[in-house]
Amino acid sequence: MSEPRKLLQGSTGDWEVVVGLEVHAQVSSKSKLFSGASAEYGAGPNEHVSLVDAAMPGMLPVINKYCVEQAIRTGLGLNAKINTWSRFDRKNYFYPDLPQGYQISQYKDPIVGEGEIEVELDGGEMITVGIERLHLEQDAGKSIHDLSPNESYVDLNRSGVALMEIVSKPDMRSAEEGAAYFSKIRTIVRYLGTCDGNMEEGSMRADVNVSVCRAGNYDKFRESGDFKFLGTRTETKNVNSIRFTRQVIDYEARRQIEILENGGIIDQETLLFDPATGQTRTMRSKEDAHDYRYFPDPDLLPLEFDQAWVEEIRATLPELPDAKKHRFMDEYGLSPYDALVLAADKQKAAYFEEVAKGGDGKLAANWVTGDLFGALNKADKDIADSPISADQLGRLIVLIKDKTISGKIAKDVFALMFDGSEAGDPADIVEKRGLKQVTDTGAIEKVIDDIIAANPKQVEQVKEKPKTMGWFVGQVMKEMQGKANPQAVNEILKKKLGL
Ligand code: ADP
Ligand code: MG
Repeated sequence: MSEPRKLLQGSTGDWEVVVGLEVHAQVSSKSKLFSGASAEYGAGPNEHVSLVDAAMPGMLPVINKYCVEQAIRTGLGLNAKINTWSRFDRKNYFYPDLPQGYQISQYKDPIVGEGEIEVELDGGEMITVGIERLHLEQDAGKSIHDLSPNESYVDLNRSGVALMEIVSKPDMRSAEEGAAYFSKIRTIVRYLGTCDGNMEEGSMRADVNVSVCRAGNYDKFRESGDFKFLGTRTETKNVNSIRFTRQVIDYEARRQIEILENGGIIDQETLLFDPATGQTRTMRSKEDAHDYRYFPDPDLLPLEFDQAWVEEIRATLPELPDAKKHRFMDEYGLSPYDALVLAADKQKAAYFEEVAKGGDGKLAANWVTGDLFGALNKADKDIADSPISADQLGRLIVLIKDKTISGKIAKDVFALMFDGSEAGDPADIVEKRGLKQVTDTGAIEKVIDDIIAANPKQVEQVKEKPKTMGWFVGQVMKEMQGKANPQAVNEILKKKLGL
């Protein structure tokens, strides 16, 4: 089917890398999946724990309709099948931060089935990644081992918080693809508002599955659907950044190739990534589904809703990044790259569109992605805290377009507004500071005459080397404080110098 991409060379031949991600995205909701306790981040230990979350005997879970709605929204955003009948199962295991002794998850019948998303890579190349499923489940609490030398603590604030687990097909073929996919999922959920995507606060993390196989075997897998053609995978748990995802895939692929080339076998293991060393290490040997003895949770009825509700939710979906990107290209004539950069973030996209109202989308995109993002970056500021509003930048661009000011003066005005020395309408700033472009050719001619008269040596030189005319342009601009219309200056200079 597909060409084997990005082969890795070993000492005994070429290898292909295969990657599948399970992304855990915390549902943005006020309360937990099965209890009314707050799901907010940052409370003191065990402050957000209801009797249900602490698994007190006899407590019963009650499904949070809002979380269900968010899962459906996300499913729609992943172009996936929404299952109007799904079921919650108990995934049984013992862990000190799991007071129930099981996690309520979805096993055979998830709320969202197969889907597909487009992912763009750095060079602009597009790949399609299949979604296997999305299911709802509750998070566990947190064990804390580093507060005391001889005791461990448990914080149940996260216990019961709603997670969406988004499982990809093993469709990614390199570290770059895995990272780009993770990033795209983050963009989509942030657009939808179903997860804040905040990786530092643990709202989003991924289990990264990696295997390697001999070149050509991946295509056999795609043709037959038979996993026997793929190598044994390892699963690195809780990777909480896109950069780490890239590192895990790179590291694991090389580690596995080395083992295989030395005649070893890959254990199906669960690993942890250590950012300090950039390496993975064994956490435990992998469990199989039967180890969890999944069974339908008798405390919960199957989750059933009608298609009409799904359609209602579909009608409220915002324009998603892919659609927006294509519209930016069509409507404003942006390059795929600029369109992508601007559409990838809802706020940036909205800012850009406001700026573009002035009528020149391309110029607006240049200013937003170039000058503005550059300045924000340097000041370590977010677009939300931009000292220059979209309306102001839009007005500034109109002044360039109608030739009130030159691009060079516009940059000065931009800097004045950015550092706070000026505020308000750029037209007023230009007026007040007397920055209007001089298009009056008489005024420009006079300055040029003076400069020519005062610099006979340069005049002689420019006749032999016309390239040195730039020096005259510079002198005129300096004299006129950058306000002369550059085109007029060039024309008059050429005429007067006989070039
Ligand atoms: P589990 O819960 O056991 O980890 P899931 O079905 O939830 O299983 O997730 C398995 C993940 O691993 C999926 O993203 C899938 O695409 C990926 N995967 C399965 N087999 C391979 C493989 N051989 N190489 C890489 N990824 C794989
Ligand atoms: Mg898993």
